[in-house]
Amino acid sequence: MTVDVDVATEVTRAVDRAATAGPAWAQTPMPDRQAIAHRFGVLVADHADAFTDTIVAEVGKLRTDAADEVAWTVESAHWYADRPPHSRRVAGAVVGHRPLGVVATITPWNVPLHTPTWKWLPALLAGNTVVWKPSELAPRTAELAVALLREAGLPEGALQLALGAGATGSALVDDPRVAAVHFTGSTATGNAIAARVAPRGVRYALEMGGLNPAVVFADADLALAADCIVAAGIALNGQKCTCTRRVLAHEAVADELVAELTGRVSSVVPGEPSDPRTQLAPLVTTDAAHLARQAVAGAIDRGAETLAVSAGPDRPHDAFVPATLLSGVAADDPLRTRELFAPVLTFDTFTDTEDAWRRADASDYGLSAAVFSRDDEVIANAPARLRAGVVNLNRRSDAVDLEAPFGGMKQSGNGHPEGGEFIYSSVTALQAVYGQVADPPGSSVPREAHTSG
Ligand code: ADP
Repeated sequence: MTVDVDVATEVTRAVDRAATAGPAWAQTPMPDRQAIAHRFGVLVADHADAFTDTIVAEVGKLRTDAADEVAWTVESAHWYADRPPHSRRVAGAVVGHRPLGVVATITPWNVPLHTPTWKWLPALLAGNTVVWKPSELAPRTAELAVALLREAGLPEGALQLALGAGATGSALVDDPRVAAVHFTGSTATGNAIAARVAPRGVRYALEMGGLNPAVVFADADLALAADCIVAAGIALNGQKCTCTRRVLAHEAVADELVAELTGRVSSVVPGEPSDPRTQLAPLVTTDAAHLARQAVAGAIDRGAETLAVSAGPDRPHDAFVPATLLSGVAADDPLRTRELFAPVLTFDTFTDTEDAWRRADASDYGLSAAVFSRDDEVIANAPARLRAGVVNLNRRSDAVDLEAPFGGMKQSGNGHPEGGEFIYSSVTALQAVYGQVADPPGSSVPREAHTSG
């Protein structure tokens, strides 16, 4: 990608400031860093309405989803403030975490406050400085977050904002002073970033797309399965990386499940995101909706059938895409091979348990999966048979806890999850120190080190 001079200059300036702020920030005592993180949590809670309004206005999320996102951000801020990276004794060594330097965080628009906070707050607590490239669709959410971090006491320079589109992200990852990249977005962009930074030895963590299956066995509670599939299919208007995309049903219950799904899809309430009755609002842009309509029309041209479509809003909206359930989508159709950010689901049947696992795995993605069964053996075997970073048993595919690791397998991630303390492995370097080193609190008795190469 060629980068225009202004973009390159802005990015260089942001990295300059972050690099300059690095040494002092890394020396700032941990209790001071923790206090800033706690104050940030308090300030976000104080500004909850402003954040919610801004998120709804910028990206069109349902107001309730935007308010939830703000609440998670408050929760994560205090959680990380209480759990910075800590040293511990391992055999004869004291193992500590060292900051890497300047961490670039590049984030998408669909969770514009919590996803970035989940990356840069632990990176900052660990003593790194950060340059954050938020989505070009959510700059005001980003500016408000940065203003509150400053108000919380974060020194100037420790977190720099680089506003702009893909070219800004591209210039950022190319800056030789960037020590690590933490990215959430599409698989294509994530892989492009990896190809750029890997040869320089830059640490990179990629959270990418999903084509997440919901596998419904013959003995499943079909009403529960249908509730979860539709709710996770239209979550964030179908624009969440953990949305259910592929429904796989045992052939014995296929008709019954379709009936359950159809009933629920046809009662999805369309509308404006700020209306509390709305369950499905327009997509983020008319371009996104255009792509989604094209993808559905293309699949139908190639023989797919529409099983269910939800109603449109009273006032037609160019960016609205109804919840759509399709059957007979060809294996090589783009709907099967590439994540589409829209409330569009495919429906297929399987014959037996092995066939179910094989079909669930027939995707390059491996972010999340849901399994519905009352059979203890099926449920016990499911995690080992599903190559997905998140597995939900008799629950929605998009249900996650903030403290657990969040990251995909295969083309959905590169094995450096976010979530809780798991993120520290991608924003710090582990250092084993032997000899005259004080025991961290709660350590066992040290023993002599072996000699090793
Ligand atoms: P999404 O479609 O989910 O927004 P993208 O991968 O297009 O996913 O965007 C995710 C983030 O990556 C955004 O902040 C976007 O501006 C940024 N981005 C897009 N292209 C590039 C690139 N070539 N290099 C770095 N960042 C990029």
